Amino acid sequence: MGYIKTKGIIIKEINTGEADKILTIFSRNYGKISGSAKGARRPKNKLAAATQMLCYSDFVLFKGRDMYSINSCDIIEPFYEIRNDVVKLTYCAHFVDIINDAIQEGQPAPKALQLFLNSLHLLAKTEKPPELIARIFEMRLLSILGYAPYLKCCIECGNADLSREVFFSFKQCGVLCQDCGRKEQSSINISQGTLRALRHIAHCGFNELFCFDLAPPLINEMGRICKRYLRERLEREYTKLDFLKSLNMP
Ligand SMILES: [Zn+2]
Repeated sequence: MGYIKTKGIIIKEINTGEADKILTIFSRNYGKISGSAKGARRPKNKLAAATQMLCYSDFVLFKGRDMYSINSCDIIEPFYEIRNDVVKLTYCAHFVDIINDAIQEGQPAPKALQLFLNSLHLLAKTEKPPELIARIFEMRLLSILGYAPYLKCCIECGNADLSREVFFSFKQCGVLCQDCGRKEQSSINISQGTLRALRHIAHCGFNELFCFDLAPPLINEMGRICKRYLRERLEREYTKLDFLKSLNMP
């Protein structure tokens, strides 16, 4: 019991009572936690500004019997640029959906938090294509969660020569050489560039993670792999980005 301090970002808000909110915070020290913000929907309330969706803030919380209550919070980064752009906002909603599913209550997940914050930062402040940021976010998050695909050599026969044709197997969670790939009907043929990008995302140091570009056809190929891999590993279909397709946006 008592007060705790942590940095954290708000990933869900539910209105309750006359002017209160219950927030889900992805916190640095405690993983996902729930906290009530009394009066936060009143514009002049001291919690109003920093308890908006997506605000990354310094929190002081009181640990109650069922959940935390927010005593004070100071904004570190509000990610305003995302709120004013429908494409960025949709990508952000997609990230938030995945984070809400993948991160457990009360278990610190510092690598996932760093990945999430960096992805939001690039989405908000740079011109890096959002679809590339999304593919990096998805595949790196799956790797952090322990689902990195096997990319070193053919997962079936150990053949390290993937220079002719290379296939991605969802069934075996890794790559296949030409001979094995042609035999496994559910695998898909991928390009060498996509293989290089997958290896980079799954295994590079964090500082280099976002430091590459990818041609649009390869981003599309990555998209097909990530969407299905994400669905099969997290057992849920993520559909927020379909909205952009319906508008014919990236
Ligand atoms: Zn093989």
